[in-house]
Amino acid sequence: MDPDILSTFKILIIGESAVGKTSLLLRFINDNFDPNVSATIGVDFKTKKVTVDGNTVKLAIWDTAGVERFRTLTPSYYRNAQGAIVVYDVSRRETFNKMQLWLDELDTYTTKRNIVKMIVGNKIDQDTREVTKEEGIKFARRHAALYIESSAKTRDNVECAFEELVQKIIQTP
Ligand code: GDP
Ligand code: MG
Repeated sequence: MDPDILSTFKILIIGESAVGKTSLLLRFINDNFDPNVSATIGVDFKTKKVTVDGNTVKLAIWDTAGVERFRTLTPSYYRNAQGAIVVYDVSRRETFNKMQLWLDELDTYTTKRNIVKMIVGNKIDQDTREVTKEEGIKFARRHAALYIESSAKTRDNVECAFEELVQKIIQTP
């Protein structure tokens, strides 16, 4: 099949600084992990072809490139996105406490659009957990979002997070 005629889904990754957004993206795209990845450096976006339930689609996955620390994401970052991955770090409660802010921001820029949300509790490989899985599930349910816990370091649930999001986007009218 000609890849140019595939439909493209724009997916955003947002959340507090250093929760592992860039690492999740690089794990998904290149299947690698850099423990020293700089929190201020990211990519603009990466594309990847995926097949979910027999549907092959192209994903354009946008990274904040570090500007989230200044809260200066622009409307164009959010424009025409079909899906959003909102990430916190299960080993740092303050990043979970900021989730409401990120979801509010997402709602502000995507009003009246069916954007599919996936909430990701990342860094489950850390043994210093500060946010329980139950809290994450409850929060996601309140926001009608999907929920998954992952580790970009060990690759746990990384592919799964993107695939479940794509599956839901395909099912959403
Ligand atoms: P971003 O600012 O949200 O893009 O976060 P980064 O991807 O830059 O990651 C911040 C730091 O956390 C880096 O040192 C990463 O190597 C580390 N990191 C990212 N994901 C994980 C993970 O799943 N487990 C562990 N232990 N460290 C991670
Ligand atoms: Mg980053």
